[in-house]
Amino acid sequence: MSERKANGAAGPVVILLGPPGAGKGTQAQKLMASRGMVQLSTGDMLRAAVRAGTPVGLEAKAIMEQGGLVPDSVVSGLIDEALAATPPETGIIFDGYPRTLAQAESLDSLLAAHGRHLDRVIELAVDEDALVDRITGRFTCANCGEGYHNRFKRPKVEGVCDRCGSTEFKRRPDDNEATVRTRMAEYRAKTAPILPVYEARGLVARVDGMAPMEDVEREVQALLPA
Ligand code: AMP
Repeated sequence: MSERKANGAAGPVVILLGPPGAGKGTQAQKLMASRGMVQLSTGDMLRAAVRAGTPVGLEAKAIMEQGGLVPDSVVSGLIDEALAATPPETGIIFDGYPRTLAQAESLDSLLAAHGRHLDRVIELAVDEDALVDRITGRFTCANCGEGYHNRFKRPKVEGVCDRCGSTEFKRRPDDNEATVRTRMAEYRAKTAPILPVYEARGLVARVDGMAPMEDVEREVQALLPA
């Protein structure tokens, strides 16, 4: 049986893979809106844990600020909980997970334990130097989460969110150049080696992540299981 068929009535399971700033979060948000899939972002889960001051958050905070990787066991625990909370028919987009070979292995077991199977890995291929600009310039509305950029997408009225009118904005503490360079190095050393493993299973499709956002979205949509 193909990996695709094994899902049966279960919703599609897709991984968005690419370095920080490749557009994984943006594309995941679009798929949530258009396909009713859920985005499982370990970065978002960890930031929520840090804000809430949970034991996981306390362990992760300093590592995240330096751009390192949180231990595999911690993120696998978060994913296990998130899978348990997702109805079987709902499609899933993994964003920022798996990030190591060990996480990719646990993902297989976790999916099987929850009656799921991986359908597709979409690699967002990007130019690293352009990414540093992309990441260090980004900020979001503190109220509704709408994304902006110092150079590429400023609010239409300076200082006012286009979507909700809020005047409060925020930046991620790890979106500074030094941390971004460490996050990129972590990606090259620990995450990129996952790709050949998924390639050998015939699961990987590559999309040009430097193309305009709408083109990336169209290509990603076309790669999803029907
Ligand atoms: P992200 O929002 O995906 O860029 O993640 C922000 C930070 O959270 C990363 O730089 C890591 O410190 C941590 N993190 C997120 N996801 C993972 C993961 N799957 N494994 C280890 N650390 C992670």
